[in-house]
Order: sequence, then C-alpha cells, then structure tokens
Amino acid sequence: MYLVIGGDCMDNQTIMQYFEWYLSDNGLLWKKMATNAQELKNTGIDTLWLPPAYKGMKRNDVGYGVYDLYDLGEFNQKGTVRTKYGTKEEYISGIEKLHECGIKVLADLVFNHKMGADETEVVHASPCYFHNREQKCGTKDVIKAWTKFDFPGRGETYSAFKWNHTHFSGTDWDEEDQKKDLYLFEGKNWNRETDEEFVNFDYLMGADLDTDNQEVVDELLHFGKWYVETANLDGFRLDAVKHISSIFFRDYLREVRRRTGKELFSVGEYWHPDLGKLLHYLDDVENEMALFDVPLHYKFYEASNNSGHFDMRNLFTKTLVSEREKNAVTFVDNHDTQPGQALCSFVSEWFKPLAYAIILLRNEGIPCVFYGDYYGLPNCGIRPVEKLPVLLKLRKYFAYGEQKDYFEHENIIGWVRQGDEEHPYSGMAVVLSDGPGGCKKMEIGKKFVGQWFYDVTGKCTDPIQIQEDGFGEFYVDGGTVSVWVCKEAYEMIWTDCFDFA
Ligand code: CA
Repeated sequence: MYLVIGGDCMDNQTIMQYFEWYLSDNGLLWKKMATNAQELKNTGIDTLWLPPAYKGMKRNDVGYGVYDLYDLGEFNQKGTVRTKYGTKEEYISGIEKLHECGIKVLADLVFNHKMGADETEVVHASPCYFHNREQKCGTKDVIKAWTKFDFPGRGETYSAFKWNHTHFSGTDWDEEDQKKDLYLFEGKNWNRETDEEFVNFDYLMGADLDTDNQEVVDELLHFGKWYVETANLDGFRLDAVKHISSIFFRDYLREVRRRTGKELFSVGEYWHPDLGKLLHYLDDVENEMALFDVPLHYKFYEASNNSGHFDMRNLFTKTLVSEREKNAVTFVDNHDTQPGQALCSFVSEWFKPLAYAIILLRNEGIPCVFYGDYYGLPNCGIRPVEKLPVLLKLRKYFAYGEQKDYFEHENIIGWVRQGDEEHPYSGMAVVLSDGPGGCKKMEIGKKFVGQWFYDVTGKCTDPIQIQEDGFGEFYVDGGTVSVWVCKEAYEMIWTDCFDFA
C-alpha cells in the first residue's frame, strides 16, 4: 500500500507531533493548536499528530494511561471533565479549525492497556518470569486485579460495553497482597505475534488488552468508527505496536477503513533500533501502516554524541527510510526520547539542525517534527531548534527535483535537489559536517549555470557561482549545515514572502 497524506498532492508533506511530555496541565493545548493553525500551515506543516485525547487515570495524564476511550473531556470521571489538553468541545472545534487551514489530524490510539479501573475483581492468575514471560513461576493463585471498568460517569453513552478481567490477558499488581509481579490470568496466554524480547513482549503495563478475545476486537472496532466520525480524523498514530498482535492491527486498520470509507494514514510506534524487526513487522501487517524510523533516530543520537568522529557515510545504513521509504516516518526526537523520559536519547543541540536538514530536505520518507524542537522544552531549559522554521519552509517551497547524493566523505556529506518545473526557484545544495568545515563540489544542474547561490542559514556570507558544467563548490562550517539556494529563493525565505506570481 502506497501511503500518502493528502492524496496525490504534489507538494512535500510534513507531520508535526503537537505535544511534549511535560506540557502544563492547564487544559489549553486544543485552544493553542486552533490559534496557531494558520501559522503552522504557512510554515509548512500539513498534518498534526495530537496526543491521546481520551480520559486517563488522572487529569494530568499525558494520555497513555487510558481509562475511558469514549471520554474526550466530556464526562466527570477521574475527578475531572476536561483532560490535560482541554474539553471535548475544544478538541472538536480545534480539529475543525485545523481542517479549515488545510491541516490533517492523526489521533493517537492507545490499545495495549487500560489503567485506573473502577473496581477490582478476584481472578485466578499465575505469576510469570519477567525475562521469560511464557514460563510460569510458582503455582496458580488468586489475586485481586484492577480490571473492572464500568465508567459510572459516562454510563452507556456511545457504548454500553463494560470491561472485566475476561477482556485482559494479565496485569502486574495484586491489590490483595499489595504485590507487584507479572500475572497471567487463568485460561489466557500472552498474545502471539508480538515482539520477541523476554520471549513474548505482549505485556507492557496496566491491564493488558486481550486482542484474541472477539468481544474486545468488536468493541475496539466500534470505538474506531465512532472516534473517526466524531472527531473527523484523518489517520492514526498507533502506540506501542510491538506489544500488540501484528495480525490484530493489520485487520483492524482494514476494517476501520472499510467502515468509515476513509484512507486513514497510520504510523506505528515499534520502538526498536533493529531494522530487521521493523521490516519483519511491516511484512506481518502487510504494509497497512508506516513506522517511525527508530534506527535513524539512534543514528542521529550517536552522531551527535561522537565529538565529530561519527562516519557520516553510514548515516542511512540499516535505516527504515533507506530500505522502505514509502513506509518510513522520519523524526529526530519525540516525547519518549526527551530528557527525563524512559527512552531518553535526546539528540544534542549542535546536531539538531543537521538532523532536521536530513529529514526535511531529502526526497525519501515523511518527516515528523517534534513540538519540543519547534517550541523548545522550557521544563528542561532547552531552546527551540535554530532555523527550524526556515528548514520547514525550504522543504515546503524549494526541496524538489532530482536528488544527487555525495556521501563519500566521513565528515562532510551533501546532496543536491535539482529543482522542478512545478515549483519556481526550487533546487538547493545541502552540505553538512559533523567534523571540520570544508567544501563539496556538487552538480546542481546546467539550468543554473552562471547563477549565484546563497547560504540561507546565514553561516556562509559570500555567494558562490554555478560553473559552466553545472557544478558548484558549496561550503560548510565545522559542525553545521549550510543550505544553498538561488537568489530569489533566498530573498523569499528571508522576507518570509512567497509570492510566485
Ligand atoms: Ca499487549
């Protein structure tokens, strides 16, 4: 399946992850996105990935501690009507505003687990070894598990379904003995077709959904259709897919697309640096979704922490975007890799503009920009990434045409985009170095012969002239990126005026 956002649009597409972990619990995110919608569109953002919008186990939950999928900030549950991000009304009208501005919306689907149950149940369960979840340790016992979800604040609005222990495979807390362990419920097995770490990585946290149970599948399908139609969604970001049966999501996406008649672009979070695992998963789901390019993220992380000794020729080795570009959503950082989080692997500040040039100015993959890089992470004292809006506009207006790579040097790499007919003044030369500065001779094309090119980052102040053979010698300072464009493009970027008439 060829995955695109926005149909057969000729222009480059860009996603933005519109949240970070430590946003304030002020209920203002949905309002903020509505206020900023037009500005985001003008900057080159076409799609927003929004945080989980449903009621979590407490008001300041980021959204991954899901309590009630149908409560988008509408019912008084868990001590609050609104979520961390606002009310349902604000969510729906915010999405309307995004659509008016031509921005599509990906909703975050969290189907692996539920948390904050209303009551406990007495359940027969066996503890399992943490490092070999298929093997039980000790004898079968009775535990008191948090598995009863009745939603007293919502009642039967939108869905009469009530969850109990038969809908889950296991949990990690016995309320009776106040004991943490990995408990597999009697008569259950961990779902197959999950990641093989710890033999079977079905279990992650909370009460683990049993997607082998048809009642669970039917209810999630009912929810999917309701959610897409209620919020007018354009697609999904799928949380924690390596902990959920791949077959489930393959069939789920097909069925929700059928029921809603929508294309529903979807990108899964399969968190693993090993490309082989990602390819295997894409085969299992028969390419019904894209995946985040986690291996590329770790390349950026490694390069940014290697004091200039990373071999830039290997930047794309064993990355998803190099092997399966149509299914790759590239990114630099996210809410899990930011400082303070479990998967913290934050790309260093000096390398960020290089990493963003790499995901934004090349032909392959759909890039996803992190909120914390665009707006900064005030909680961690981290500033917005320098020149990120400029790189976004470069992508939107000028990163077109044939791409030629010059990846033959261990420090300085570069590529050109030779421009196309549909995008006036398009074409650029990108050159970057993780070590000392220097220059690279690259072929921008004979149609530019004699023209002067300017470094739009402002690092190199002298323009360079394209030679008779269509080549130019493009400079870069050490540890930076320079993007060379023609005079007209340079002036448009700096005046922020894109009048092509
Ligand atoms: Ca699971």
